[in-house]
Amino acid sequence: MKAIGIDLGTTNSCVSVVEGGSPDVIANAEGERTTPSAVAFTKDGERLIGTVALRQLAMNPERTITSVKRHMGTKWRKSIDGKEFSATEISAMILRKLRKDAENFLGENITDAVITVPAYFNDMQRNATKDAGTIAGLNVLRIINEPTAAALAYGLDHGDPQMVMVYDLGGGTFDVSIIEIGDNVIEVLSTAGNNRLGGDDFDERLTDYLLDVFKTRTGVDLSNNNMAYERVKEAAEQAKKELSSMESTVVNLPFLSQNSSGPLHLEETVTRAKFNELTADLVQLTTEPVQQALNDAGIAASELGEVLLVGGSTRIPAVQAHVESLTGKKPASSINPDECVAEGAAIQAATLESAMTGNNALMPRGGELLLLDVVPMSFAIETVGGVATRVIERNSTLPIHYEQVFTTAASFQTKVEINVLQGERPMASDNKSIGKFLLKGIKRAPAGVPQINVSFDLDANGILTVTAKDLGTGNEQSITITDSERMSDEEIQAAIRDAEQYAEEDQARRDAFAERDEATRLINQAEERIKEAGKDMPKEEKRTLKASIANVQRYLAKRPEKRRIRTRRISRAPWMS
Ligand code: AMP
Repeated sequence: MKAIGIDLGTTNSCVSVVEGGSPDVIANAEGERTTPSAVAFTKDGERLIGTVALRQLAMNPERTITSVKRHMGTKWRKSIDGKEFSATEISAMILRKLRKDAENFLGENITDAVITVPAYFNDMQRNATKDAGTIAGLNVLRIINEPTAAALAYGLDHGDPQMVMVYDLGGGTFDVSIIEIGDNVIEVLSTAGNNRLGGDDFDERLTDYLLDVFKTRTGVDLSNNNMAYERVKEAAEQAKKELSSMESTVVNLPFLSQNSSGPLHLEETVTRAKFNELTADLVQLTTEPVQQALNDAGIAASELGEVLLVGGSTRIPAVQAHVESLTGKKPASSINPDECVAEGAAIQAATLESAMTGNNALMPRGGELLLLDVVPMSFAIETVGGVATRVIERNSTLPIHYEQVFTTAASFQTKVEINVLQGERPMASDNKSIGKFLLKGIKRAPAGVPQINVSFDLDANGILTVTAKDLGTGNEQSITITDSERMSDEEIQAAIRDAEQYAEEDQARRDAFAERDEATRLINQAEERIKEAGKDMPKEEKRTLKASIANVQRYLAKRPEKRRIRTRRISRAPWMS
């Protein structure tokens, strides 16, 4: 069995598998090498995923979801026909399509996968991604960081020991990592980034500018007109992409709105210089993480052997120029920024699969690669006075085991709440609380006497598990996770059932559509034959045939998802080839 690598991107996703020792990108059912990370719910209850969802976005903006990755691990919910969907569930729908398409492409069942996340994803976002994989029917072998995956893909072809910087600016996130590529060891030295910076922000700047231009010219404010806004946004993204290769482009949107004097159009020439001016501060926002990553790795930019650009937004010339000015290096052009993350994930998937099964044929060429990744943000716990006390430093190499003995602050305390935080700030309230752990059943004793050993285990995915033991009684304490943003096991199971049931309904609907197409084709063919045969066809046969056609047409007039169409009767007519 093969394990696949999945780059679950903000804007686009990509799947790859190692075959014959090196990673290949798997095309989706539409024949594309990347799949838009978009999900839409039609009015008929159909779920559209990928290009088909994106294509109808401007017509159906309220029921189309894009960039859901920005909401992973948060309380964000989308309400569709009275049902609430979390970002995890929406991502699971995308992953399910990726899995199905890979199965069709490879002609075998797929369960094992490595999924990538931005290096800067916190524990909750990683968990949400893993849960999405589980709901999509995947056994998530490992969650790895996107820049690390890119370095893996690069390292497979450039084995010389060296230090590389991966600068990854995608649709919604920015990551920078310093990675040392050695002989079959890829070690991440540091990582930094911004969870909320990406191509979407560049689109927004240009969209706002175009809306302003339109308002100045016509007096009409489109910011509350969903459909028009989506059209402008779509055009802005298109213009942004064009400005990566051209000095200027024209945004042309006819019939965008209307007023008493008739329809209103938008036609505006946008230059690269204007676009650079609108987005200069966004490009600047990447400076600090780059410097932080270099500092944390303890190296100067001049020690970098190579700078790799990953993510669609690194195609923006101003971004490339900025990277060059920061590092003094011209970024490498040998890797494909859209595909290298999925390829690196596939390499890791193949390495893990071959280690698990002992099947060396699955191994990427060059043999086993040891991947040493780091934790992107420090872990801390809240202590007296609201202080965040570090327990695990950022950029520590995974996996990590850490233990600390806690005691009570008040006499006869029987429970202690531990607030686990992720972030770099000194006060607890300035960091992200990723879970509160309640230790119950402590033996009544004066303050400071009970001894509770709490251990933190960060696995290779960067996901945290906390266990606690009361050293006084020897009892392992039950820990209640009171994190409301995480899906419970029951919720995940319910989502799996829901996804499976939906997959069956979806298949039935697709079958019905296919039968409908086939029936229409047969009717046309039969009518053609009747015409061609003219008087040569016996009357009785013609009558039977026409009656059959009419029957099938009556079926077709009904909604295909409500009624499966039988075409057998007509297809069995003896005169048909
Ligand atoms: P990713 O998440 O890596 O797929 O990156 C997607 C982002 O890259 C989106 O915001 C795209 O609009 C952006 N993008 C893709 N191609 C280009 C291009 N040629 N120029 C500028 N941005 C691009």
